[in-house]
Amino acid sequence: MTPKLVLVVVDGMTPAAFERAVESGRAPALAFLAERGDYRLATSVFPSLTPVCLTSIATGAGPGVHHIPSLVWWSRQERRIVEYGSSFAALRAAGLSQSLLDPIFNMNARHLAPGAVTIYEALEDAGLVAAAVNITCYRGRHRHLTTLPGVRRAAYGPSRFFFYGLFESDRTGAPFAVRSRRAGSVDTYAAAVGRWLVTRDGFDFLAFYLSGYDFASHAAGPDGEAADRALEQADAAIGTLLDAAGGPDEFLERYAVVLLSDHGQTSVGRVARLEDPFADLEGQVVVAASNRAGQIYLLPGAQVDPAELARQLDGFPAVDVTLRLEGDGVVARRDGADGPVEKLEHPDAAWRARSALADPNAGELLVSAAEGWELADLGGRHHAGGGSHGSLVAGDSFVPVVTVGLQTELHRITDVAPAVLAHFGLAVPKSMEALAGVS
Ligand SMILES: [Zn+2]
Repeated sequence: MTPKLVLVVVDGMTPAAFERAVESGRAPALAFLAERGDYRLATSVFPSLTPVCLTSIATGAGPGVHHIPSLVWWSRQERRIVEYGSSFAALRAAGLSQSLLDPIFNMNARHLAPGAVTIYEALEDAGLVAAAVNITCYRGRHRHLTTLPGVRRAAYGPSRFFFYGLFESDRTGAPFAVRSRRAGSVDTYAAAVGRWLVTRDGFDFLAFYLSGYDFASHAAGPDGEAADRALEQADAAIGTLLDAAGGPDEFLERYAVVLLSDHGQTSVGRVARLEDPFADLEGQVVVAASNRAGQIYLLPGAQVDPAELARQLDGFPAVDVTLRLEGDGVVARRDGADGPVEKLEHPDAAWRARSALADPNAGELLVSAAEGWELADLGGRHHAGGGSHGSLVAGDSFVPVVTVGLQTELHRITDVAPAVLAHFGLAVPKSMEALAGVS
């Protein structure tokens, strides 16, 4: 019989942090899975920002297919900024009531491309039971009402669906998580739900998402003691799942495991406003920037072209490279010179850039920040002095991957969904990318 499968995503966990945690003995659950499984590095997508990455994991496709372009972007149809939660100040700047709807409902119901099949849809269409805990890409076939009194709007998720206490397909007794942003509290909720699900063996596939580590690493930087302590908390949440099965060995008798992060993080010490170099183009462009990536959109009637937008950033120290389409190719502009994207040394740069620019919701010019720099969000917030991510650089892009009981090697985060479907003996939908290791 095919073992069931648990996917664990630890947001923002770098390979170095993972290896430190395993080698120090401070993370017994991670160490157990690493010892019993295969470990390798995989690459994230661009921009390496959580809504893009988690959607790529859940759909097995890059932004060119799933159409979620960034953490913050300009909707040409609605002529407004979509902000999934760079910071509370950024949400407020984008219009608070709208901005709370975007990450909770609209990302899955409206922005996610209808043709990008999710892992939950593919599995449940085949008669399997999928469960999702807190993962922001959750689209499935089952209608769920919120737990909030007075909110009538429903969301469509997998049959077992738990989302920060806002959606709960089953009563688990887990503490309500949504109003507390403290690092760890939402993972405590996830762990309680996960324990309930594993205790009942109530799924064939579980997507279990932990966000607390990323939060701590943003605040304190990816290489500090505070981030390492947060990873111990993530480890404890994963340990809760192992315990619920009766112990680590019993857990692996029942479940195959894929454990990875969605992107890395790098230290940031300096901050810039990406709007500043475009000040003379007011009314012609929209700048959407957050963390270490930005998108520049041309408004109808603009008198400039993407190449001129790119030149506008020459000499701007926060920018490492810009990307734009020209003919059939992607032009990477760096240090004041254009070149083919294939020449960039950044991990998997050409595929990531092409997929990002193939997204109809992407800007005409994409910006990847230089090492050590962050781009302030709409609300002026940033993580200078801590950690951040979003760019093409290696530190933002490489993620640790542990697989136990899986036949397929995962080289990109988009490999997860097709590998899981193959694990269950199911056909891979056309919308999912070919496995990176297979040419
Ligand atoms: Zn983050």
